[in-house]
Amino acid sequence: MLATSDLDVLLSHADSQQETVIRAAARAAGLLWLCRNTACRRDNPRSARTCGSCGCGKNGKPVGDIFPSPYGASPRRWRALRKAITQWCTEHNRPLPDGVTFAYWGDRDEDCGWAAAAPSFHYGGQQVAAPELACDEAVSEALNGLNHHSAPSYGGDMRIAVHR
Ligand SMILES: [Zn+2]
Repeated sequence: MLATSDLDVLLSHADSQQETVIRAAARAAGLLWLCRNTACRRDNPRSARTCGSCGCGKNGKPVGDIFPSPYGASPRRWRALRKAITQWCTEHNRPLPDGVTFAYWGDRDEDCGWAAAAPSFHYGGQQVAAPELACDEAVSEALNGLNHHSAPSYGGDMRIAVHR
């Protein structure tokens, strides 16, 4: 299997005609995915969940909500989390992100739940770790409120769109 770094080497030695062919083959083979945002159209490595340039998902749309449970969270609890994040950003002079991903790699102790998940902010194509967000009392409380709806699974991601 060709690694993404090998693909980069291949592309760096290709002229523009060869690059077009190599990229088309890499997309067909699933090594790259083309951003479907028509204003962007950047190739992204297979491992990227969002576009490294514009921040859109593989569907070409801005980051949206991902709730890992088929039951979802109640709109009220989801709003509470969004409000807590917005307030935290205002209080800490941070620009509002497009969304926040909570990656659960932590303790499976149910008492910790989503409050133990590592948060990161999405700003366009950038994803910035924000561990300090999880220390906020209002954010933790809002996250704990979600545990009744879906306990986090190891390696599971939850994402909430913020900037609308
Ligand atoms: Zn893009």
